[in-house]
Amino acid sequence: MELVFATHNTHKAREVSAILPSGISLKSMADIGFHQDIPETADSLEGNALLKAQAVYDACKLPSFADDTGLFIPALNGAPGVLSARYAGSPPDSRGNMQKVLTELLGSDKRDAYFRTVIALVTAESVHYFSGEIAGRIIHEPIGTGGFGYDPIFVPEGYDRSFAELPSEAKNSISHRALAFNSLIAFLSTL
Ligand code: IMP
Repeated sequence: MELVFATHNTHKAREVSAILPSGISLKSMADIGFHQDIPETADSLEGNALLKAQAVYDACKLPSFADDTGLFIPALNGAPGVLSARYAGSPPDSRGNMQKVLTELLGSDKRDAYFRTVIALVTAESVHYFSGEIAGRIIHEPIGTGGFGYDPIFVPEGYDRSFAELPSEAKNSISHRALAFNSLIAFLSTL
């Protein structure tokens, strides 16, 4: 079965390709000649994942999937949420994003947060969604040099080190994205 991952991120694509069940041949957007950017204009992770997967499905008529992730902080009414990549403005800036979150939480002890990933899979017959979440808390200053995005200010529940301090294998075994991709893979294994 051929399946297209609607991402321009080759690192993500390689990672997913390595864990897919045998019998599934993963194609990139470049493989199908899709080079445009797909603006993420929806107001939910589901909406943005669907926008990307549907645009690629429409272009190639092969089963296609896309993911979208956000950091949700209840004390900030769910922000940065669906706007996580550009919370401090465009172009995307991880340091600025983290600083904005820390400033908004200054003096607050309500620091619960969670990452959520949604995957939309578009096939000829239907649309399927898969999701993964990890709960944790926002610490008071960035710590650690690994990972990306908000990793230096997020400590997962049950840990005392930030995502940016954990070895990448440790993060990748518990992360929101890993959980969502495991659900997708479990579903694909039944086809
Ligand atoms: P995307 O949907 O995977 O592109 O993620 C959107 C934004 O969420 C990224 O630009 C990051 O700021 C943030 N983000 C997504 N996944 C992670 C993660 O695993 N750690 C930290 N930040 C993340």
